[in-house]
Amino acid sequence: MNKFDYIIIGGGIIGLTIARELKKREPRSTVCVLEKEADVAAHASGRNSGVLHAGFYYTANSLKAKFTKEGNQAMRAYCQQHGLRINECGKLVVARDESELAGLEELKRRADNNGVELIWLDEGDIEVIDPNARTFRKALYSPTTASVDPIEVCQMLKHENMANGVDFRFHTRYRKHRDDLIFTSAGTYQFKYLINAAGLYADSIAHDFGFGVSYTIIPFKGMYLKYTKNKTDVATNIYPVPNLGNPFLGVHYTKTVDGSIKIGPTAIPAFWRENYSGLHGFRLKEFIQIVGYEAKLFATNSFNFRRLALEEMRKYIKSSFIGLGMSLVQHIDPQGFGPFLRAGIRAQLLHKETLELVQDFVIEGDQYSMHVLNAVSPAFTCSMPFAVYVVDQMMELRGGAIS
Ligand SMILES: Cc1cc2nc3c(=O)[nH]c(=O)nc-3n(C[C@H](O)[C@H](O)[C@H](O)COP(=O)(O)OP(=O)(O)OC[C@H]3O[C@@H](n4cnc5c(N)ncnc54)[C@H](O)[C@@H]3O)c2cc1C
Repeated sequence: MNKFDYIIIGGGIIGLTIARELKKREPRSTVCVLEKEADVAAHASGRNSGVLHAGFYYTANSLKAKFTKEGNQAMRAYCQQHGLRINECGKLVVARDESELAGLEELKRRADNNGVELIWLDEGDIEVIDPNARTFRKALYSPTTASVDPIEVCQMLKHENMANGVDFRFHTRYRKHRDDLIFTSAGTYQFKYLINAAGLYADSIAHDFGFGVSYTIIPFKGMYLKYTKNKTDVATNIYPVPNLGNPFLGVHYTKTVDGSIKIGPTAIPAFWRENYSGLHGFRLKEFIQIVGYEAKLFATNSFNFRRLALEEMRKYIKSSFIGLGMSLVQHIDPQGFGPFLRAGIRAQLLHKETLELVQDFVIEGDQYSMHVLNAVSPAFTCSMPFAVYVVDQMMELRGGAIS
C-alpha cells in the first residue's frame, strides 16, 4: 500500500507549484505526485506560449487579475534565482483598424484597475519597441510581459520538489476512488488529502468525487508555426486586440527565450481531450460527449460559437494562419514560416446549463479533496500565488495542517 498525507494528481505547473507550497508549509508531510505520463509538463504546461503575462486582460474582481501581476513577479524571481532563461522583451498590443481602438481603451482601463503598467504609444512611436510592428493610430506597450521556457521551469520545480522529499510516480494514471483509496494503473494509493490538478481530465476526476458537476471540459487546440527565416524580423511579443467575450487572446507573435519567433496559438475546438494530431489519445466515450456539446453550442450559437469555430477551422489552412500574423507587422516573408510546432490543448471549462465558457479559475473541494478546474491561460504565469491560494483554501476546509 502506498500511503501519503497528500496526493496530487497531475505533474503540470499547477501540481508542481502546489507540491512545493505544501512542502514549504509542512516539511514533514508526505507528498506524492501521480502523473500518467513519463515526465512532468507533457501537456499544457509544456506546450504553451511561455509568456509571463502582465495582468491587464482580466476584470478586477477575478482570480486571474488577482494573481497575474504577482505571478509574473514570482516566476521572474524564480527564474533569476535558479539561472533559468527569461526574455524580458515586453509586448505590444496593436489595433488593426478603427473598430479595435475601443478594445485598446478597455485593456488600458483594466490595466489601471489592476495596477498593471501599460503605456500608450502613438503609431509613429512603436518603432522604438519594434520597427516592424504595425498598428492603426495607437498601441499599448506592456514592459513587464516576458517569456520563459515552460519546460525548463517545470523541470526545475520537479528537481526542487524531489530534493524536498516529494515522491513522483510516473506512468501512473488515476482511474477511480473509494473513500480514502485511489485506484491507479499502477496500484492502490491511500491519502489523507487529495488534490486534483489533472488539467484536461480535472473535470472527470472532480465528478468522481462529486465536485464540478455543473461543468465539463471542452478542449481547444492551440497550434503554432515557427518563423525560421530571421530571428530579428520581430523584436517583441506582438498581440492583436482580443475579443474579450471569450478567453482566447488571438494569434500573436511570441519571442521565445532564445529570441526565436513563433505565431499562434489557434483556438480550434478539439474532438477529444488529447486530440493533438491524427488519432492520438482517441477515446470514443469522450469523443461522443465532447462532439455532443460542440453540436449543442453550434446549434444554440452560445457565445458566438459558430463564428469562432468556423474562423478557427480556417486556420488549418496555413496561408490563412500566416495571414493573421502578417496583419500585425509591416512585412514578413510568408515563405519564412516552417512547419507546425507541437500543439497545446486548453482545458477550457463549459457551464453545462448556461453553455457559457467559464472565464476565471475555479476551485471546489471539502475537508478531503480539492479540485482545480479551468486552470487555463494565464495559469502558468499565476501558478505560484495561485498555489498559495489553493493551499490556504484547503487548510481552511481541513481546519489546519496534517503533520
Ligand atoms: C496553447 C496554449 C498556450 C498557452 N499560453 C500560455 C501563456 O503564454 N502563458 C500562461 O501563463 N499560460 C498559458 N497557457 C495556459 C497554461 O499552459 C496552463 O494554464 C497550465 O499549463 C495548466 O497547468 P496544469 O498543471 O493545470 O495542466 P497540465 O499541464 O495539463 O497538467 C496536468 C497533468 O495531469 C496529468 N493527468 C491528467 N489526467 C491524469 C490521470 N488520470 N492520472 C494521472 N495524471 C493525469 C496530465 O498528464 C498532465 O501532465 C497556455 C495554454 C495553452 C494550451
